[in-house]
Amino acid sequence: MAQENPIVHAVDVHKRFGHLEVLKGVSMDVTRGQVVVIMGPSGGGKSTFLRCLNHLEKIESGTIEVNGHAIGYRTTSGGRLVEESAKVVARQRADIGMVFQRFNLFPHMTVLDNITLAPMMVRGTGRDDARKRAMELLESVGLPQKAEEYPARLSGGQQQRVAIARALAMDPTVMLFDEPTSALDPELVGEVLETMKRLATENHMTMVCVTHEVGFAREVADRAVLIDGGVIVEDAPPDRFFNDPQHQRTQQFLSKIL
Ligand code: ADP
Ligand code: MG
Repeated sequence: MAQENPIVHAVDVHKRFGHLEVLKGVSMDVTRGQVVVIMGPSGGGKSTFLRCLNHLEKIESGTIEVNGHAIGYRTTSGGRLVEESAKVVARQRADIGMVFQRFNLFPHMTVLDNITLAPMMVRGTGRDDARKRAMELLESVGLPQKAEEYPARLSGGQQQRVAIARALAMDPTVMLFDEPTSALDPELVGEVLETMKRLATENHMTMVCVTHEVGFAREVADRAVLIDGGVIVEDAPPDRFFNDPQHQRTQQFLSKIL
């Protein structure tokens, strides 16, 4: 039987900032419905890799495809990478939801307006439909009562759940999370992880999550990946990743966080 095409297909991605080579050939496939957790030491290139996936960063070489479509570039007949126009990139990026460490909601807009903005602007969804969908999403993250509230009046955990709802409003093919709980007070971490877990188990969302939440990784992830020094060091099912890592760098890293 033919293998289903991966949702995320990254091949030999190289990225540098000036002289600093931050990604030294990262390849990763994520199939539909898979949850991949990325861990690793600070500065290893985790955020940069996620940002390359939705073309928030340019890459030097390599291939990035989401759902069968190249992101940010097309290849000339001579094999050269040519960057797409901002308009094309915006359209491509619309399929990729991203949630960052810092809740980056628009402070001057209500929760509901935060969620409806992109569907109305980018997808051309009508206001009534966008609001109806936003309310469904607020239900699903447990915050329908906060629709007319401004972000500053919400806790960090609530803001992060709104950020998830906002990303989902675009009906993304894949969701990228960059340490979504690491800026939260400890007692607020659980509600965000629970929201992410439901997204994985009930909605079967394809997810790439940079997080050091071991419980989440063990319970929800299909694979755990260690990125260190701009390369993928380890890529294994969570059970093996945590209990029997093959590489010394993974063992060292785990000894610090477990
Ligand atoms: P991680 O998320 O694993 O902590 P990052 O991807 O944020 O690591 O960073 C990897 C390396 O790239 C670090 O050395 C960081 O300082 C560097 N870096 C990240 N973003 C930039 C940037 N915009 N300009 C220059 N260097 C950067
Ligand atoms: Mg980071």
